[in-house]
Amino acid sequence: MSSDVEVRLRGPGSYDLARKAVAAMEQHSIWPTAVNFELWTHVVADPQGPLAKEIERIISGGETFTDNVSDELAAAYLPKAKLNEQIRDAGDALSKELVSVSRAIQSAQKSSEAYGETLATASRAMTEGSESDLKSMVQTLQSATQQVQKQNKSLETRLSESTAEVVRLKEHLEQVRRDATTDGLTNLSNRKAFDEELERACEEADAQAQDLCLAVIDIDHFKNFNDTWGHQTGDQVLRYVASVIGRVGAPPRFAARYGGEEFALLFPRENADIAALVLEEIREEVSSRMLKRRSTNDDLGAITISAGLAQRRPDESSHSLMERADTALYASKRGGRNCVTSAESIPDAA
Ligand code: GH3
Ligand code: MG
Ligand code: MG
Repeated sequence: MSSDVEVRLRGPGSYDLARKAVAAMEQHSIWPTAVNFELWTHVVADPQGPLAKEIERIISGGETFTDNVSDELAAAYLPKAKLNEQIRDAGDALSKELVSVSRAIQSAQKSSEAYGETLATASRAMTEGSESDLKSMVQTLQSATQQVQKQNKSLETRLSESTAEVVRLKEHLEQVRRDATTDGLTNLSNRKAFDEELERACEEADAQAQDLCLAVIDIDHFKNFNDTWGHQTGDQVLRYVASVIGRVGAPPRFAARYGGEEFALLFPRENADIAALVLEEIREEVSSRMLKRRSTNDDLGAITISAGLAQRRPDESSHSLMERADTALYASKRGGRNCVTSAESIPDAA
């Protein structure tokens, strides 16, 4: 997103852009959710931009503009700009801090050089000078020592302030990094973080000749659920399923929301037998709970999940591993859902 657009969204014409965004959403029957509003203000501010083009493609292709689609667009087109800005700001603050510390150190260096010169002069005066020379020299030395002490004190204060500032900046950067790798709805890792972790885990599995399994988990008939109970209740279910997956699949396993209602789970150093037991536990726990809608206490019944599991072969690419887990998930769906299938048990994926 160009910074030009960001400026216009905070400039004199911004109310007009906001009205246009609402009108455009209404024209295309798109709910004015916060994410959609942000997307559409950017579209009307920059109608020839990449986001506008992508939205036009989606709408003209007849694709439904679900929350999922909005979230993916926002992730692809919006927060990057914000995140980059935040990272840049934190970086700027850090370099300013470093410049100011290095100035303080330089000035302390200068005054200690001057002190060194004073000492050298004094030592010459002691060997060569008269008594009155000595007296005045002692006085000079005393005041120079006080000067250096004062300088040291202020350098010390400056350094300890700066240490606190660097700690604060580090925490800020850490937060920005966490935001960039976390799924906002469920607090699990997001797809980007999972893809990175998968690459890392594959390399480690090769280097140490260790097992690695990957599972994909998908909520059954979730479209029906949303149609019956509404998207917000659907979101509540997503959070519930995520919490079970996150708890049972706690580190060193790695759980993520991979997309809409799909999750992914990595099992470093575990084989398919163990991973299948863990997935069974997740499946069983999710399906055994009778859900209630928080706001109205309506009984929502139970929901189920299906899972597909693949154990990595030596040197197998992450792409192929993912594909085999997907094929196994598809087999679970075909086989009646609410079950776990291992790729090893189906001939075309084993
Ligand atoms: P299946 O058992 O074959 O997986 O059927 P399904 O209905 O779950 O599958 P499908 O892929 O047709 O539908 C997925 C649905 O998930 C579509 C959408 O309504 C819902 N969904 C995706 N992302 C979100 C989200 O962030 N929140 C909510 N509430 N629903 C979502
Ligand atoms: Mg799905
Ligand atoms: Mg589904």
